Amino acid sequence: MKQNFPILSQKVNGKELIYFDNAATCQKPISVVQKIDEYYQETNSNIHRGAHFLANKATEEYEAAREYTAKFLGAEKSSLINFVRGTTEAINLVAYAFGDKFIGKDDEIIISELEHHSNIVPWQMLCERTGAKLRVIPINDIGELNYEVYAELLSEKTKLVSINYVSNALGTINDVETIIEKAHAVGAKVFLDGAQAAPHLKVNVQELDCDFFAFSAHKVYGPTGIGVLYGKEDVLNAMNPFHGGGEMIETVTFEKTTYNKLPYKFEAGTPNICGVIAMAEALKFVDEIGIENIAKHENDLLEYATEKMQTIEGMTFYGTSKNKSGVISFLIDGIHPYDLGVLLDKQGIAIRTGHHCTQPLMNKLQIEGTCRASFAIYNTKEEVDVFIKALNRAVLMLK
Ligand code: PMP
Repeated sequence: MKQNFPILSQKVNGKELIYFDNAATCQKPISVVQKIDEYYQETNSNIHRGAHFLANKATEEYEAAREYTAKFLGAEKSSLINFVRGTTEAINLVAYAFGDKFIGKDDEIIISELEHHSNIVPWQMLCERTGAKLRVIPINDIGELNYEVYAELLSEKTKLVSINYVSNALGTINDVETIIEKAHAVGAKVFLDGAQAAPHLKVNVQELDCDFFAFSAHKVYGPTGIGVLYGKEDVLNAMNPFHGGGEMIETVTFEKTTYNKLPYKFEAGTPNICGVIAMAEALKFVDEIGIENIAKHENDLLEYATEKMQTIEGMTFYGTSKNKSGVISFLIDGIHPYDLGVLLDKQGIAIRTGHHCTQPLMNKLQIEGTCRASFAIYNTKEEVDVFIKALNRAVLMLK
C-alpha cells in the first residue's frame, strides 16, 4: 500500500518516514496526484457557462464528481452536495445562512466538550450576533459524551445540535443516532461534523437522518481546500444564501437579485474545480479498498499500538472509549509533548503535539495538550514497532 503514496518513500532526517499525523491530514495516493496533474494538463477551464470543448469537459467531470460524492454519502440527490473549502467553511456557511435566519434571541445551540474550534467558534459568533445561547454536553472520564446531560439540555429552545461524529483529539466515536433522534424529538436540526468520520466510517446521511453533514477532502486522501456540505433539501432551500457573486444568482438587476437553485445557490464564484475532481478520485480510492477494510486495518493498528504503549512507564492515555477510531492521544509523565514530538521527528516519525484545536477540551482535562498518533491505511505494524522503540529511546533521553 505504501508504494501507492509517493510522498512516503522519502527519508526524513535520514530515516524512513513514518507518518502518524493522519488526523490532521493524510497523504494522497498516486491516483489523486495524477488526477490533479491530468486536470491542469488536459481539462482546465471554467465551468457551467462555456460553449467550448474544455468548458464542457471540466463541467462534466465536476458534476460527475458531485454525483460520486452524493453516492459516497448516501445522499438522496447530488444537488444536496455543496462544495465548500472544507468542514470549517461548511460550519460557517450553516451558522450564517441557517443560523442568522432561524436562530434568535434566547434560542439554544448544543455542542459538546469534544468539539474542534471550528465547531465552537462559528456558533459563538452566531450567539454574539443573535443573542442565542450555547449549551455544552460534558464528557465522562473516558472521553465519551454524557447522554443523560444531553437529554436534560434539550428543550423547545434548542434550535440546533452540532456535534462531531468522531473526535479528532480523543478518537471517541459518538452515538450520533441517539443524538439525532433526541434532537429531532424537540424539533431541533442536527449538524454532524464528519471531518474525522468520513475517512473511517461508512456514512449514509439518509439513514443517519442528519440535517447537515460536512467533511474535508484532505482527511480522506484528497486535496486540501475542498470539502462538502450536505444538507436536507427543504432545509437548504429555506436558508439564506451565504456568499454573493457569480453562479449563485438566477437574475440580477440593481434593484433585486434572485438566487439560483441548489446546489449553485451556495457555490458563488469560480469553485475549486480541480479540487472537486481530485476529491472524487480520492473517494474512489477509498471505495476500491472498502471503508470497512480501512477501518479494520486502523483498528488493528490502534489495538496493537495501545497494547505496546501501555508498557511504557508514566504513560497516560486520553480518550479510552471502546468505541474509538485510530487515534491515540497520550502523555508521558515528566515529558513535554513538544519535546517528544521533536525527538520523534529526528527519528523520522511524524506525530502531532499540542491542543489539536480543542482548547476547551484540554482545559477540561486540565492539560495543555497531548501527543497524538493517528493511523491511516498505509501505516503498518512494523511502523508501530519502530515508533515504540523511538518512544522508549525518547523517554530515556528526556527523563
Ligand atoms: N472538525 C474536526 C473534528 C476536525 O478534526 C477538523 C480538522 N482537524 C475540522 C473540524 C476542521 O476541518 P478543516 O480544517 O479541514 O476545515
